[in-house]
Amino acid sequence: MREIMTCQDTGTTIDFRSQGPCEVRHPWPAETAVCAVSGVVLIRNAKEGERTSYTMLFMEVYPPEAAFIRGEGATPEACEDTAWAKYQRALNCSDGSGSHNWEARGYRNGAGFCSRCGTFGSQIITSEQLDQFCRVCGTGTTYHRDTDNAAGTTTFLCEERYKTHKPTCHFSHDRPLAQLLAALIDEED
Ligand SMILES: [Zn+2]
Ligand SMILES: [Zn+2]
Repeated sequence: MREIMTCQDTGTTIDFRSQGPCEVRHPWPAETAVCAVSGVVLIRNAKEGERTSYTMLFMEVYPPEAAFIRGEGATPEACEDTAWAKYQRALNCSDGSGSHNWEARGYRNGAGFCSRCGTFGSQIITSEQLDQFCRVCGTGTTYHRDTDNAAGTTTFLCEERYKTHKPTCHFSHDRPLAQLLAALIDEED
């Protein structure tokens, strides 16, 4: 496996930071990228109004054929097991067509979810399916989006025209992971 933040090959271990490196329980492909953290979750007790806390482990894995998977659990084993179960669902998702049944669900950058297994994917829905075309040359594109909140309009730029029509925000378009993270952030707006 490869640690996303450090770009280091971690072999068959996952490091949840607070726990130290843990041997993985499942045969993840070697090219799987992983980011794992442990976090404290606070919950308010409804009756007494007191807060109790517990430690929760989270991991994000990017295995081949399933762009993005999130797992969580109280232990490293439980956390990995939930992610592995989702990965198996993604790998075995088929109605005979051999592909996922992608839905955009509001995304406009080509990302979406499979309606059967819930897998998240980037660059799986075409600009034509989304009815998005470059405002300069008219080519179908998911490359760059500008939203004018005052005018209530959204326009698009293809990669070629993006270079000559400077955008108002910047992020690297040329790294798959950056695209994936941008796709996730896109959900918030
Ligand atoms: Zn699927
Ligand atoms: Zn264009």
